[in-house]
Amino acid sequence: MGKRTLMKDRYRRFPLLDIEGFKNAIGEMHGKFFPKQPVLNKDVRPGEAKPLPDEAWFIQTLKDKLAHHPENTKEYPFYGEPIYGEPLVGFVRGNDPLMEQYKEIIGPHHFTPWEIMRWQAENNGVTPPAPEDISVVSFVMPFSPQTIKENAAVVDWPSERWAQTRLLGEIFSQTIVREIVTDLMGRGILAVSPDVTPMFNKKRYPKVGWASPWSHRHMAYAAGLGTFGMHDFMITEKGAAVRFASFVVNLRLAPNRQRPEDIHAYCRHYQGLPCLKCAKRCPVEAITAERAHDKETCSQRVGKSVPHCVKNYHIFIYGCGLCATGVPCESGIPVLKTGGAR
Ligand code: SF4
Ligand code: SF4
Repeated sequence: MGKRTLMKDRYRRFPLLDIEGFKNAIGEMHGKFFPKQPVLNKDVRPGEAKPLPDEAWFIQTLKDKLAHHPENTKEYPFYGEPIYGEPLVGFVRGNDPLMEQYKEIIGPHHFTPWEIMRWQAENNGVTPPAPEDISVVSFVMPFSPQTIKENAAVVDWPSERWAQTRLLGEIFSQTIVREIVTDLMGRGILAVSPDVTPMFNKKRYPKVGWASPWSHRHMAYAAGLGTFGMHDFMITEKGAAVRFASFVVNLRLAPNRQRPEDIHAYCRHYQGLPCLKCAKRCPVEAITAERAHDKETCSQRVGKSVPHCVKNYHIFIYGCGLCATGVPCESGIPVLKTGGAR
């Protein structure tokens, strides 16, 4: 059981000493405090001991982890309530042209799957596999209906369930990816989770503002799991109130979803339909029809939520997500025809 199960029956007494929260924040900003990377087992040939994992294996493994993992739970006062529901899983190949294009679209700091895999290969003293021999496994974890409902009811700061989901959900996501990566490396298959490597550090870039060198959301778009909304959250079949994760494996996995060409295909406003419900939900007017999502105004507001979460929820985290809840795209793709906002 994880350390957080200590918070089953009570809040932590000293929220400013929320060590896991601090570690999480510093990890995100500076790429530190992550557990050691698993080591590649060079004594077995991939596929020798067990069959090579295929697309169905990854989908089932992730579904099982979300359904049965003991750490997919919130803390007091919601202990036992799942953080996430059933995931969506997609795949994209390392030589998909979009991977190189992201260097233009997001910025040159963004890693290609091959670059991150080369780092892991060199760590383990093996030759990096070619881009066509690697794949990204991307997945979407939907927030629980209780979390969505609770956040939809607030008008200023994130709700308690939302704040817990932001922190515990991130730790949980890193845990299950680490378990899968460790399993694969033990079978002699190179694998890496980019956001727990030392290269993972969030910085402010001239073109895109605050950004990290590996975007789970862009990987999800590439894998056909969703498209971007006015709020810059991604809209998926499970809605916008979701978390994304992704990791890179030395396997040829076949893409299983059709990727829309239009990066805004599921947003009512971008499709010329009345909506902008997300703009109405934003307490600092960071979303407008003219300028879409103002990342700077948004991140300033989100940063200011830390004292609220520490004081009221006894955890060290920031968050908001008001624009992703109480809107037509919160739990699914909105109806994309006139009069169909739900
Ligand atoms: S609330 Fe409407 S305009 Fe905003 S992202 Fe969702 S579908 Fe698009
Ligand atoms: S996350 Fe919060 S501050 Fe940012 S755009 Fe959405 S509602 Fe506004």
